Amino acid sequence: THFGFRDVPVEQKQQLVGQVFSSVASKYDLMNDLMSFGVHRIWKRYFTSTSGVCEGDSVLDLAGGTGDIAALMLPRVGPRGNVVVGDINGAMLGVGRDRLLDRGLHGNLQFAQLNAEALPFPDKSFDCVTIAFGLRNVTDKQKALGEMHRVLKIGGRVLVLEFSEVRAEFLKPLYDFHSFKILPRLGKLFANDADSYQYLAESIRKHPNQAVLKGMLEQAGFARVDVRNLSAGIVAIHRGYRV
Ligand code: SAM
Repeated sequence: THFGFRDVPVEQKQQLVGQVFSSVASKYDLMNDLMSFGVHRIWKRYFTSTSGVCEGDSVLDLAGGTGDIAALMLPRVGPRGNVVVGDINGAMLGVGRDRLLDRGLHGNLQFAQLNAEALPFPDKSFDCVTIAFGLRNVTDKQKALGEMHRVLKIGGRVLVLEFSEVRAEFLKPLYDFHSFKILPRLGKLFANDADSYQYLAESIRKHPNQAVLKGMLEQAGFARVDVRNLSAGIVAIHRGYRV
C-alpha cells in the first residue's frame, strides 16, 4: 500500500490509518482557516442561526463529514430533537463522529454514509435539510435538490451554504489573486498539495451563481426561495420551503 505499512499487525494498522486520517482532517481545518482567514466559522454560525431550527426538530446535514454544522445544530434541536449527519465518505464521517464525541456530543445524533443524490430516508422525514460547502462536489445537483425536497416535511426548510459569485467589483481582482496565486501556494506549503487547491478555485468558478442556483431550487419544487450573500457574495445562503 502507499501508506507503506502492509506488514504491520492489524491492531497497529488501525492505529496508523487513524493517524493518517486525523492528520488529513486537522490539515483540512487548518486550510479552511487559512483560506478564509477563519471566517468560515462565522459563516457556519450565521448559517445555522438563520435556519429557523428549533427545539424538537429533526435535521439532516448532508456532506456533513467534519461535524461542524451538526455541532451547531445539536444545541438548537435539544434533547427532543435529532440530527443526522450524512456523507458519502466513510473516513470523513469517522473523523466527524470522533470529534463530536470528544466534545461530548452524542445523544440524538446519527451518522449515515450516503449519496446526496439518492437519500436512504422515507418521504417527509425532516424539518430541515442543510448542506454546507457540499453541493459543489455533488455530480447531479438537480437530482440531489429533488431528494432534499422529497425527504422534507411539509413546511420544512432547505438551506444551502456554498461559494458563490463575488458581487463587489473592487473585490474581484483581490479575490482572483487570492484564489489563483495565494491558495495554491498555501496548499503546497501546508498540505503539500497545490493541485487540489487550484482545483478548488476552479470548481468555485464553475459552480452555479446566486440566480442560477435559486432557479435550480425552484425547479426542484422549493417555494419562497431567498438568497443572502455573505462577505459580498464570496459565499451565499439559499433557503427554500417545501409547501
Ligand atoms: N460540511 C462540511 C463543512 O462545511 O466543513 C464538509 C464540507 S467538505 C468541503 C465536502 C464534503 O462533501 C466531503 O466530506 C465529501 O465527502 C462530501 N460529499 C461529496 N460528494 C457527496 C455526495 N454526493 N453525497 C454526500 N456527500 C458528499
